[in-house]
Amino acid sequence: MAEFPCGQCNQDADTSPSINCDQCDQWIHRKCVPMTPAIWAEWQTADLKFLCPRCVKPTTPGEGPYDIRAALKRVAEAAATTNINLRSVVKQERLLLKTYKVTLPQLTENHGAGEVDETSVGILRNFHPALLEDYRPIGVQGDGNCLYRAISQGMYGVQHHHHLIRLLTALEIAEHPAHHDIHHPNHVDHIKDSRLFLAEYNILLPEAAIEGKESCMQHIFAASAALGLCFESYCPPMVPSEYMSLPYTRRVSGRGVRTSKGVAFTLMWTSTSVANSSRQFK
Ligand SMILES: [Zn+2]
Ligand SMILES: [Zn+2]
Repeated sequence: MAEFPCGQCNQDADTSPSINCDQCDQWIHRKCVPMTPAIWAEWQTADLKFLCPRCVKPTTPGEGPYDIRAALKRVAEAAATTNINLRSVVKQERLLLKTYKVTLPQLTENHGAGEVDETSVGILRNFHPALLEDYRPIGVQGDGNCLYRAISQGMYGVQHHHHLIRLLTALEIAEHPAHHDIHHPNHVDHIKDSRLFLAEYNILLPEAAIEGKESCMQHIFAASAALGLCFESYCPPMVPSEYMSLPYTRRVSGRGVRTSKGVAFTLMWTSTSVANSSRQFK
């Protein structure tokens, strides 16, 4: 029996270039992962923790070959723990996505599909009826992932890419602190609106990485940068004081996204029930 059998093919791992899995400690042939020599070389450079095909598989069947939720947990853990090097975790997650070819699908033309949200229609009918002539509000599940679900819905007409969109948004925030940390010495302010309450970086990043955590305008800007898309954020004028709804109705173009780029879709801030007057809006 081979002393170090490859975790995939069971043959001696010493016979050709191999890589060690940080989780199960097994050696895997480069060709059995499989990965290109260039990606293999990238894994050799730093103290990055490689995970083998078996260890990146989701425990829930039917969730594809790569566990994106586990990746989110690793980023969240790194963001919350001072003795974990966030930069190398981010590098490692990017490299894992590259190794296992985890990407969002190409944008299709057919992204207007989905069921109309009757509550949002009711809200618009009461507060902004003219909009219903041009817009059809599509509902998403309100489970704390609604921003990422809404983006997935807007991009593809389906919500199930929300985990990957969340992960890409968290990686964007982690990789570009100057653009997302309001106290960074070289902070680049993309939002430019003093009316908005902005979250601290040590809150913003875990909120992006932890599944089910609510999102704010900063996350929408980070998602715009992560996806290279320009969005429109829309809050119906139903909140008692204007300063609460106005700042949320605007063009969103994050780091590196040209404002001249056309709006991909509109994200509507909505509610679980139709209010008749602004006082009832929550
Ligand atoms: Zn092998
Ligand atoms: Zn493993």
